[in-house]
Amino acid sequence: MPVLNYHSIGHDPGNSLVLAPDKFAAQMSYLAEHGFTPLSLTEFILILEKKKPAPPKPVLLTFDDGYEDNFEHAMPVLQKHQFPATLFMSPGVAGQDGYLNWEQVKQMHESGWDIQPHGMTHPHLPKLSPEKQKEEITEARRLIEEKLGTKADVFCYPYGEFNKTTLSVLEEAGFRYAFTIRQGWTTSAQPPLELKRIYVNGKERLSEWVRRLSKP
Ligand SMILES: [Zn+2]
Repeated sequence: MPVLNYHSIGHDPGNSLVLAPDKFAAQMSYLAEHGFTPLSLTEFILILEKKKPAPPKPVLLTFDDGYEDNFEHAMPVLQKHQFPATLFMSPGVAGQDGYLNWEQVKQMHESGWDIQPHGMTHPHLPKLSPEKQKEEITEARRLIEEKLGTKADVFCYPYGEFNKTTLSVLEEAGFRYAFTIRQGWTTSAQPPLELKRIYVNGKERLSEWVRRLSKP
């Protein structure tokens, strides 16, 4: 299944991490018009584990970092199409300039977003001691679970970086899956803590995005 990796939805044409709102809206219309089925994270995992049959053209929409513009520019478009999405946030920066605050995160959660951890402060995990890695990972999870009353046991590596310590911290803490920034479709043959995704480049045209979405 393709798992799309978005970041910021806003205006910054020079930055590939930022996708213009009209381009995002065009991509979501494309999914709707071409019979794609965006999944909740729970459904995605059930399908990955072959506990549920896949719907036509399944896709998972993920957003990294927790930018405030996701609330303003992504949520309304997703609501219009009734598409669920997954947000990987760093609770340590919640409410800071440019980042979602908890009230916004709660509203997104209520409108169908799965909220999962991306480290407390978006650190370069391999550069940290094992103790500090554990704190970054488990504290982010604890805060999300406490604020939203939900389960937050799917991780996403900040900068896509991890080492053996990161993997053992995640395993010991009972994380089920973790997403990397390795490129490609996600399959059940990949290690559960090393799932691939497809980077959405804000500078790309729709046709290039379609090509990468369609190629396993
Ligand atoms: Zn990130």
